[in-house]
Amino acid sequence: MKKIQERSKGIVKKKRMSFAIRFSVIILSFITVFSILYLRSCLSSITDQYTALMIQETRRTDTVHSIESHLAEHQTYIFEHVISTSDEEKNNLEIKAQSTKKELMSEVQELRKEFKDTKYDIRYKSIASNVINYLLDSETVFTMSHSDTPEQVDEYMENTLVDYINTVNSNVSSFKNMLEDDMSEVRNELETNTKVIYMQALIILCVLIACSVFCLIISFKLSHEIINIDPLTQIPNFDYFLGYCEKPFIRKNLSNYAIMSIDIKGFQYFNQQLGTSFGDALLVEYAAQLKKNKSRKRYREFIARVNGDSFIAIHKTDRIPVITDYLRQVDMNVRFGDSVQKVTVYSRCGVCPLEKGMSIMDAVENSRTALREAKKLSNTSIIWYTPKMSEKERNSKETIAKFSKAIKNNEFLVYYQPKVDMTTNRLSGCEALVRWMHDGKLIPPFSFIPVLEDEGYVTELDFYVFEKVCKDLSEWISKGIEPVRISSNFSKLHLKNKRFADDVLEIISQYNIDKKYIEIELTESSGYDDFEAMTEFVNKMKIENIHTAIDDFGTGYSSLSLLKDLDIDVVKLDKSFLNGANTDLQKQMIENIIKMIRDLHHDVICEGVETEQQAQFLKSVNCFMAQGYLYDKPLPHDDFEKRLVSPVYELEKE
Ligand code: C2E
Ligand code: CA
Ligand code: CA
Repeated sequence: MKKIQERSKGIVKKKRMSFAIRFSVIILSFITVFSILYLRSCLSSITDQYTALMIQETRRTDTVHSIESHLAEHQTYIFEHVISTSDEEKNNLEIKAQSTKKELMSEVQELRKEFKDTKYDIRYKSIASNVINYLLDSETVFTMSHSDTPEQVDEYMENTLVDYINTVNSNVSSFKNMLEDDMSEVRNELETNTKVIYMQALIILCVLIACSVFCLIISFKLSHEIINIDPLTQIPNFDYFLGYCEKPFIRKNLSNYAIMSIDIKGFQYFNQQLGTSFGDALLVEYAAQLKKNKSRKRYREFIARVNGDSFIAIHKTDRIPVITDYLRQVDMNVRFGDSVQKVTVYSRCGVCPLEKGMSIMDAVENSRTALREAKKLSNTSIIWYTPKMSEKERNSKETIAKFSKAIKNNEFLVYYQPKVDMTTNRLSGCEALVRWMHDGKLIPPFSFIPVLEDEGYVTELDFYVFEKVCKDLSEWISKGIEPVRISSNFSKLHLKNKRFADDVLEIISQYNIDKKYIEIELTESSGYDDFEAMTEFVNKMKIENIHTAIDDFGTGYSSLSLLKDLDIDVVKLDKSFLNGANTDLQKQMIENIIKMIRDLHHDVICEGVETEQQAQFLKSVNCFMAQGYLYDKPLPHDDFEKRLVSPVYELEKE
């Protein structure tokens, strides 16, 4: 449940973001559609109003112009009528004047329609009455021009018609001014309306831009989250980290920085014992602790999660000791379910300082190599990369690559190193030790066993050796050569295999070997899990009457509890016991340890006996079994066979 909650932290964030985007896009679409419709209707109404205004303006000015021009035309006819001499011409002019009069009357009517009950009414009335009065008086001029003298007509025209025309003209021009004023007022109003619409359009545009920018920011954030951020811990992921390391600032100051690969010691334990949900919660808190250490602003440091409990960081090289000191042991409060659990986490770090010309990917790889090295060492948690590590890794990879073929080709040889009973100087047993014959060279086990052990291949090799031992035993027996008990080395990795004991027994019965010839050597182990499995295995062997030996005693931690609780037959003292037997105190200590082993009913044998003095010393402290160059180096099959045939050592007295 909680796992889902923890994981969902990131997912909820993303869901919220994508909801915000969808919501904003919908709002944006609505705003866009409505604003387009609204602006369209506003603009069309303004255009309509403007068109109506233009039409009205044109019509009004046309009518007024028409009145002006028809009045002038009429006046011309009158003048021409007065000065014309023929009757026919006078009649024509009278007819023309009559039609102009009609047009004038209809224009006056039109003005009336247009301006009745408006503020122009007075002006209209004055124009209309003057035009009508003029037309009435003009009739008199026509009558007079037929009978009176031109001087009388002139005088009459001067006194009456011109006055009217002047009044009409002045009224028309003030009327035009009024119209113009009016028009410009309406135009101003329209302009203001247009400005308002422009403002509205601008506001809508701003809202649309703001919404779009919002959408863009959110979608940018969302895509950034999806592409660059680890959903569980909410810290950057590995790709983002690589991108960051390529930034110009880092590249320019490359030699000031170091890449650090980090992981949590025994993270699997948390996952297995407390559940993966707890593991997730732990990773979230651990990432927060890592974040605490980085200083992005000041030093532009950066951390990221690679996968599982694997993290990576770029730190200023001179800050690495402070950071690793902190990470070595971190006390954390892990929020899990409704409770908070206190957990102490130990980190392992591999550090690779960056150098000019070094690619980030190479540095990352180097830091991982260093981390792998740290993982191999149980008590070291921070390792700085050295080029030797890469070389070692290359060799390891080569070994692994060649291993299967080497097994098939029987390239692994079994040597036997005699064990000697120092009281009789007689061969009493031996240890099977593997060698690799490759390309004509005999490769010693320390060059390949640790690699095979790291990669888990050693178990296959151990059984290969064990089978060879059984085969050799069976051969010697069938040849009538009495063999000795042969001890075979088995890596502690076998203890993880529930069928380990069964597999051993199966091979023994396959070759039909008497179990008294078999001894299983196990190295002491420090882990509690291993100890339990070891006890189970040793007990099974005991039931089957197969000897077990604890190898390299004195090099691990759990030696004493092992001695007390494990029902093993033989304790093999490591070479270092002899190398350390220099002072009386040390000698005393060794004596006491041997006494303790014997008191607990275990046999004891010492490895690495090279000199007669060492043999003497061992005998003096009640250790009577020895294995070492003093007697024999590990011998190839045939040489050892000879030793089986003549099992007594004749040592030259030193
Ligand atoms: P080990 O089991 O402690 O084997 C004893 C090692 O000490 C052998 O090295 C042996 O040659 C060496 N030795 C014996 N007497 C003397 C001496 O007087 N002086 C010195 N300096 N060395 C002496 P070797 O054969 O090189 O084996 C090294 C290690 O390889 C073994 O240590 C064992 O841990 C491992 N090994 C060898 N064969 C196997 C195998 O079949 N399976 C497994 N799992 N490990 C093996
Ligand atoms: Ca051994
Ligand atoms: Ca040993």
